[in-house]
Amino acid sequence: MSRVLIVGAGLTGSICACLLRRELQSKVQIVVWDKSRGAGGRMSTSRPPNASSHSADLGAQYITTTPAYAQSHHSFYSELLSAGVLQPLSCQIEGLRQKDDSKNYMTPLGMGSVVKHFLSESGADLFFEHHVTGLYRRGASWEVEKKAGGRETFDAVVLTMPVPQILQLQGDVEELLSVHQKQQLDGVVYSSRFAVALFFSPDDVFSFSWGARYVSDSRCICYIAADSRKRNLDSSGLGPSLVVHTSVPFGLEHLERDKEDVQPIILEELHRLLPDLPQPISIKCQKWRYSQVLTSVPDCPGHMTVLDQPLLVCGGDAFCHSNFDGCVESALSMLSALKASL
Ligand SMILES: Cc1cc2nc3c(=O)[nH]c(=O)nc-3n(C[C@H](O)[C@H](O)[C@H](O)COP(=O)(O)OP(=O)(O)OC[C@H]3O[C@@H](n4cnc5c(N)ncnc54)[C@H](O)[C@@H]3O)c2cc1C
Repeated sequence: MSRVLIVGAGLTGSICACLLRRELQSKVQIVVWDKSRGAGGRMSTSRPPNASSHSADLGAQYITTTPAYAQSHHSFYSELLSAGVLQPLSCQIEGLRQKDDSKNYMTPLGMGSVVKHFLSESGADLFFEHHVTGLYRRGASWEVEKKAGGRETFDAVVLTMPVPQILQLQGDVEELLSVHQKQQLDGVVYSSRFAVALFFSPDDVFSFSWGARYVSDSRCICYIAADSRKRNLDSSGLGPSLVVHTSVPFGLEHLERDKEDVQPIILEELHRLLPDLPQPISIKCQKWRYSQVLTSVPDCPGHMTVLDQPLLVCGGDAFCHSNFDGCVESALSMLSALKASL
């Protein structure tokens, strides 16, 4: 039995784990490590500190698919729809500019539920707070080093973290990359932004009717979602939640500042945009240093093979594009590499 390590319990890692289990079943032991305390990565859903409010999606907001992807990824959409993980997005989104023939979906339990669905289908051994710091080639295996100390050995390793975090790894990765591959990875560019989630008490009601709004008259804020309304949960008895995303120029300007120092600036601007907003009972701020991919790896099939034996592949949205369908494409392409190698 081959032992495969997938680094990253985000969307790409979870779909890759699920596909690998379905294709190779008991021929493979799948282990997933993530440095965070929970699954989701940039599709994570944040729980409020008290149980009286709804959760909030701090990263990805909803899933948009084109007719071509709706067809080629039909099995993924129908699986998530029939499991109740996805539902058509029905709320009003002010300022949304998109082609008429694309479809939007939301997740009643939050975007993290998509990732959790695929992880649970994968039957993988899942370990959180496992921060990979180095990869060392040892004959036909990879020895993988954790920040907390200790090393483990695997027959194949799949890296799904943002590209700059791949390039920071100690050990043999940098040496194994060809000059061309290094240039391709160095060229990947991400946007950066801050996200703020506000959690309200069950008595609070928003005075506006939209579920989400793209903001055009602010340098700071570009998007606001009445997150619980976006997910059709407003009448469920819990307090509503609201999410704010800052613009890319604002994110870049304040990138090196602590989120605690930036949060008041965002809240002041939110108050200007929505002066009637009730007082939240709690607030959470997140800095997304690597938010969405602006320039992906050029001429790439969805993954990059660093070494064939023992296999080391990199994937994720940077190897395709920065949304649900991009992660599915990357996971499918990594699956081909894994099947060929194992
Ligand atoms: C603010 C924002 C809004 C977005 N909006 C949308 C949207 O509306 N619709 C949409 O489809 N997409 C959206 N996206 C993009 C989407 O979220 C991403 O394309 C997708 O989540 C990327 O998944 P991934 O698995 O490739 O990477 P990630 O989600 O980044 O997963 C990588 C994982 O690796 C872990 N990791 C990193 N380094 C290490 C290490 N050294 N050791 C162990 N673990 C490590 C991380 O903790 C993370 O969990 C948005 C993203 C952001 C940030």
